[in-house]
Amino acid sequence: MEFNYRCSVCNATYDIVPEIMVCPDCSAQQRKDQPLNGILEVELHGSIEPGFKISDLLCVESQYFPAIPVGNTPLWKPVNIRKRTGFRNLFIKDDSSNPTSSFKDRASFLVSASACKFGIHDITLASTGNAGSSMAGVGAAAGQNVTLFLPEAAPAAKLVQALQYGAKVYRVSGNYDLAYEMSLEFSRIKGGINRNTAYNPLTIEGKKTVSLELFKQLGKAPDVLFVSVGDGCILAGVYKGFRDLRKMGLISSIPKIIGVQARTSDALSRAFHTGIFENRPTSTVADSICVDVPRNGIHALDLLNRFDGEMMTVSDQEILSAQAALAGSTGLFTEPAGAASYAGFLQRAHGLDPDKTVVILTTGNGLKDSVSAALAVEVPEKTIHSVEEIL
Ligand SMILES: *Cc1c(COP(=O)(O)O)cnc(C)c1O
Repeated sequence: MEFNYRCSVCNATYDIVPEIMVCPDCSAQQRKDQPLNGILEVELHGSIEPGFKISDLLCVESQYFPAIPVGNTPLWKPVNIRKRTGFRNLFIKDDSSNPTSSFKDRASFLVSASACKFGIHDITLASTGNAGSSMAGVGAAAGQNVTLFLPEAAPAAKLVQALQYGAKVYRVSGNYDLAYEMSLEFSRIKGGINRNTAYNPLTIEGKKTVSLELFKQLGKAPDVLFVSVGDGCILAGVYKGFRDLRKMGLISSIPKIIGVQARTSDALSRAFHTGIFENRPTSTVADSICVDVPRNGIHALDLLNRFDGEMMTVSDQEILSAQAALAGSTGLFTEPAGAASYAGFLQRAHGLDPDKTVVILTTGNGLKDSVSAALAVEVPEKTIHSVEEIL
């Protein structure tokens, strides 16, 4: 298989080298407070057999892979939800079971492998929490130095997790967008690789592996897939996996992807309906999808339009009740951002054919933000002194 970068805007092609992140021409026209212009995609040339290995479709050779078992996450058959909703072919793809407990490991894995291939030891990024703790963990396995810029409001568990893995962590006095700018400046001055989501093309490319796994696990592509959306990189990665499979002739059509955002952090969803990205302040209980400027917005919007995708929003209340409903009916405890996709399914289900193969992607472990998780349950306040008291 041969690989190169192709600009998603102007179609120019480039070699896959660490010096190139976004299209040099298109990014020169980058406007402030807008999604990134000139996102590069990895283009594949070659062919595979139906029994292919996932690494056959990756642009970094397996000898450079970090020694940490990312991916191959389980596909659940949620029998209670199937019974209750009538969706007989409903599945949950549980990416909270990745080594650092979030979907982000798929991106970190490929970035780490690429850094290793090019002899680079320093990786820098900004993160709302999961990408940072993920890169820190994967980097630890690879013996790489990880520098992380986190927004003030990142949940403590994600911060502590990154520190446990040995990352250098800076908390910025502001939100993710400020952390993002600072991390880019730091990389410019200090060198190394920047793993910022969307900006580094290998983040989206690594995320495509989820679709390749789904194809292997189901023996086909699903009909519909619900994905939680912040920057729109998971969404683009999911599309990329299916597009690669289609290009290789293994599937004939791209599944319907339904992107789910929090109602109070809905930049991509608004742009999907209006065509414009406006920068509005955001806040949601689902911190991992709390994004003012979706970095991959332009690219994600293009994909949604080309492949008949959809965007929808759910309230924080819907997210929190979906989180508890999912945990209580399946045993799968996912963080609020991970439950947004399930909340989207619950809201949208009546408009879908229950015979279709529907997949809900859960993206992060519930233990990562126990403060939010506590909002939808009643934590016992009083202690008891004897069993008689409760009989
Ligand atoms: C990052 C993240 C998302 C959203 O991914 P984007 O690529 O930003 O759209 C969803 N859920 C969890 C748990 C995440 O960490």
